[in-house]
Amino acid sequence: MNRGDNVKKIKIAINGGIGFGAKLNSKQLITISKYMNDDEELELTTFQQLYIEIPEDKKEAIIEEFESVGLACYPVGNFVKSLKTCNFCKGEIEEGMPVAKELNQRIAGKPVPFTLKVAYTGCPIGCGEPMLSDIGIMKMKDHYNLYVGGKAKGKDAEVGTLLLENLTPEELYDSVEKIVALYAQNGKKRETFYKFLRRIGREQLIS
Ligand code: SF4
Repeated sequence: MNRGDNVKKIKIAINGGIGFGAKLNSKQLITISKYMNDDEELELTTFQQLYIEIPEDKKEAIIEEFESVGLACYPVGNFVKSLKTCNFCKGEIEEGMPVAKELNQRIAGKPVPFTLKVAYTGCPIGCGEPMLSDIGIMKMKDHYNLYVGGKAKGKDAEVGTLLLENLTPEELYDSVEKIVALYAQNGKKRETFYKFLRRIGREQLIS
């Protein structure tokens, strides 16, 4: 790798993908460290992602290498973040891990007016903190509840409210994809989802 100062770098987000907890194995850590100088640092975000800067001209090859060891790579900026999840402590199927993976596959990395945070939790205990995210999903027995409008930051922090309940996986995918598309098309530049929702009203999300 060219480590010269004049190499243009690009920031990407990486994590170990959706699994039992936000974990990285030694092979993944070794692969990541190959692309870091001794004095460089990784930024750990609150949303289960690590930010790393890589040479822009080798971006494709590095992402391919990262993915070959099971790392998931996402863009940084005004995109849908990868799904923040709970640890699925009660089991993969019981807590809907395949549904979380499919939803993540469908929406993560899509461009939106402002970073959009989506959180998934496998039971009502809510370890994935879905109520504090722009969009939150909570598995309730065999179905899914969908919450919107959580705001974790600021003095005016708020919990999200229930938008739809008892959804099947397909209904969940459709509803979330529709909300993301609506926000992408109608949100103003750099308008947060929280503000967007206040401006257009919750009813628009289900009309
Ligand atoms: S939300 Fe439920 S399934 Fe997920 S880690 Fe917490 S207790 Fe376990």
